[in-house]
Amino acid sequence: MSSADSSSLHPSTAVVALCRPERNADAPLNPPIVLSSTFVGDGAPAPGDRVYARYTNPSWEPLEEAVAELEGSDHPALAYASGMAAVSAAFSLVPIGGTVVVPASAYNGTVGLARTLAEDGALSVREVDPANTEDVIAALPGADLLWLESPTNPLLDVADVPALVAAAKQHGVLVVMDNTFSTPLRQRPLELGADVVVHSATKFIAGHSDVLMGLVVVADGALRTRLAGRRTLAGSVPGPFEAWLALRGLRTMALRLDRAEASAAELAARLEAEPALSRVRYPGLASHPHHARAAAQMSGFGAVISIEFEGGEDAAVRFVRGLDLFTPATSLGGVESLVERRRRHPGEPEAVPVSLVRLSIGIEHVEDLWADLQRGLRAAAGTVGAA
Ligand SMILES: *Cc1c(COP(=O)(O)O)cnc(C)c1O
Repeated sequence: MSSADSSSLHPSTAVVALCRPERNADAPLNPPIVLSSTFVGDGAPAPGDRVYARYTNPSWEPLEEAVAELEGSDHPALAYASGMAAVSAAFSLVPIGGTVVVPASAYNGTVGLARTLAEDGALSVREVDPANTEDVIAALPGADLLWLESPTNPLLDVADVPALVAAAKQHGVLVVMDNTFSTPLRQRPLELGADVVVHSATKFIAGHSDVLMGLVVVADGALRTRLAGRRTLAGSVPGPFEAWLALRGLRTMALRLDRAEASAAELAARLEAEPALSRVRYPGLASHPHHARAAAQMSGFGAVISIEFEGGEDAAVRFVRGLDLFTPATSLGGVESLVERRRRHPGEPEAVPVSLVRLSIGIEHVEDLWADLQRGLRAAAGTVGAA
């Protein structure tokens, strides 16, 4: 792989330039998809030999190296079959009978996994309010792992990451941070002191709602070796085509995120003036309770907005059904705008209000998105017939 000295490049260039094949005469510009389950060899495998496609895979490697570079790690990231496979891998670092501190408002899959492991007797879970720094710090003594997700999905709570990392270090607690919402282009958890970064690459990294993939990035080489060994045994690996799609998506991530984020900021400001909404959650708004905290640790506020309705669940349902351009579907971070009332899922944490609707802003023209949101608001008000 060509290793253009990317440390001197702007991130928006790095996503384009990183991890291309060697620039030899007639070489392909893009890494090929290698469809092979095994690799030739008859002696004792040497370190770095691929051996078998569950151990490593030439189709993952460029993506793993590119994302590590963007997150500021010297060790390749680890690719997984989904974001939840990456989350599960991070949980596997907790010893049996250990204790994890988890935000009660983290991604429902993460909270669900923590609760399931606790019910099975594998570990103990302390659920905390991630925005309440004292609450989190009080839960740290005796814990093995602190899970951070900031901003959280879908409440957009922002944790004081430097303060929590410092406290975790004092108590010898490993810090894992889910950076799905910010991407390494907006927040670099390893620089903030986290030990492990988790991504659902399904979202902004791949960016086209056509692939499921997860990534883990670590600062420490021994931890990487441990996770790689575990991934090989758990078999939670992505297919070559998925990794290729994710890398292809990464190439345009800076452009997509710039556009979606600019639209999100504009739409959040306009939505804030709507009397039908009781609350607009977006870390870039001055009204966000932790706007200053977010501004200190993130270089941008992302492309997800959550809104709540004065008219409660019914108004929220009418709003979602009244939209034409926003597609009602779960997930986020793709080129197309999506909308979802999160509590439609029985497993959604109760911390999420029933009228909360999450908007994932895509790359469409902002005025078309605004026209659609106004259509939805009229439907929510009952001033037009909603289906
Ligand atoms: C979607 C998501 C996940 C899970 O990722 P999958 O790719 O769906 O398995 C984890 N964390 C966050 C914050 C997410 O949004």
